[in-house]
Amino acid sequence: MEKNPSLCFVNGQWVGSRSGASSDVRNPATNALLATVPALEEQEVDQAIAAAHQAFLNWRSRPARERANFLRKIGDLLLLHQDACAHTITAEQGKPLKESRGEVVYAANYFSWFAEEALRVYGDIIPADDPSKRIFVMKHPIGVVGAITPWNFPLAMLARKLAAALAAGCTCVAKPAPETPLTALFLASVCEEAQLPAGVVNILTGDAELIGARLMQSDLVKKVTFTGSTEVGKLLIRQSADTVKKLTLELGGNAPCIIFDDADLMRAMDGILFGKYRNAGQTCVCINRFLVHEAIAADFSRLLCEHSKQLRVGNGADESTDIGPLISDVAVEKVQNLVTDALSHGAVRLTDSPSATTNSRCMSPIVLGKISPSMKIWSEEIFGPVSTITTFSNDREAIDRANDTCYGLAAYIYSGDLSRALRVGEQLEFGMVGINDTAISAVQAPFGGIKQSGFGREGSRYGLDEYLTLQYMSVRG
Ligand code: NAP
Repeated sequence: MEKNPSLCFVNGQWVGSRSGASSDVRNPATNALLATVPALEEQEVDQAIAAAHQAFLNWRSRPARERANFLRKIGDLLLLHQDACAHTITAEQGKPLKESRGEVVYAANYFSWFAEEALRVYGDIIPADDPSKRIFVMKHPIGVVGAITPWNFPLAMLARKLAAALAAGCTCVAKPAPETPLTALFLASVCEEAQLPAGVVNILTGDAELIGARLMQSDLVKKVTFTGSTEVGKLLIRQSADTVKKLTLELGGNAPCIIFDDADLMRAMDGILFGKYRNAGQTCVCINRFLVHEAIAADFSRLLCEHSKQLRVGNGADESTDIGPLISDVAVEKVQNLVTDALSHGAVRLTDSPSATTNSRCMSPIVLGKISPSMKIWSEEIFGPVSTITTFSNDREAIDRANDTCYGLAAYIYSGDLSRALRVGEQLEFGMVGINDTAISAVQAPFGGIKQSGFGREGSRYGLDEYLTLQYMSVRG
């Protein structure tokens, strides 16, 4: 496979920046320089948008089956190159190789699943009041899509957007996070290998504000899909006004995990560890707050500490690592500040002091008890391997505490009583609720949040609608 990871992919070509400006990509575990990528300028971004628009005129009118074949090919190639792609993810993002391999499979699933969904973009015929009329409803691809993605799942976040957009008949201009552009460029090389027509997928690197502004201002870009922080999401909402651009926003979270006194704690532990420590806790759906019934709080805390301590922390490239480094020094500092703030407001540290690691970005899991809403860690996304525990005494209190956040992405419930879990689940103000389950992300399911976690859905048949517009024709015979 021809790959040129230090260039952008525009209109089927590998291109650099005319100015020669570039930025470094480093391994968060070792700080080693992995590559430099171009910093494109306004004019170069506009050229990519124009190429995507030109490609759209043809891509939209191809038979859905042809588009589906390309998508299937991309998914198959990702699986073929699973190991190389996983190593790229781990090198620039830091997560353990086993998680990176899983991310490749997860991303490939989006391409193969949306390959099938591409064939099912049906319309409607609606009876009219006037018997001489018919109402036809058709779905059309919205047009060129701008996609902006974060560093925590550099392949999956892009795949979720591209697969659905391409299936709908849209073309894309994507901007990955500066920490992890190489995985996005790996995907570009896979698109090239699949012989995807030029301009259908374009991957740009460079200044986020500059590229973001060009995407938002362009009348050729009909939609922007963004995954990242709530702060940047709000900025994009403001910027979308001038061109009345459609948005999908997958933003931050503050997931509660309610553990009822009838939960089977031993059986729950695997899911809980996955839900908390996956990707070193740097996941928008990671458990941020454990809300535990007071009757089992001591047992739960002991079990969580015991299991947390067994996780191996280190370089993600080491096959035995469970928790890799955090993405940057700034991220480590932010997590440490949240812990310090909590301790200074009465939280209790239940795990021993973290063992020294060779890399200061590697954090051993920390478990904090006696968490209260006055602490920053209660209301802010932790994005690190820190578990926080607070207690409740009845169902009402658990629901109110869980909902005590401006976010509404994911929530979890552990209970042996399914009817209780469903009753409580329906009262949780979150777009996704896992019951005795933290592996909630699946291609068939609508992923997304409410409140300040954003709007729109990714994956599932609802995810396809994000890239389609409705047109209705009133026909008199
Ligand atoms: P971020 O700072 O918002 O960055 C996300 C992306 O937006 C990056 O590519 C970033 O590029 C870009 N960006 C920043 N400022 C921009 C601007 N003015 N215009 C256009 N693009 C801009 O978020 P992050 O720290 O990378 O990612 C972590 C956040 O993502 C967390 O809050 C997490 O919860 C959220 N997330 C949500 C989901 C979900 O599905 N709901 C999934 C994963 C992550 P630069 O870095 O170059 O500024």
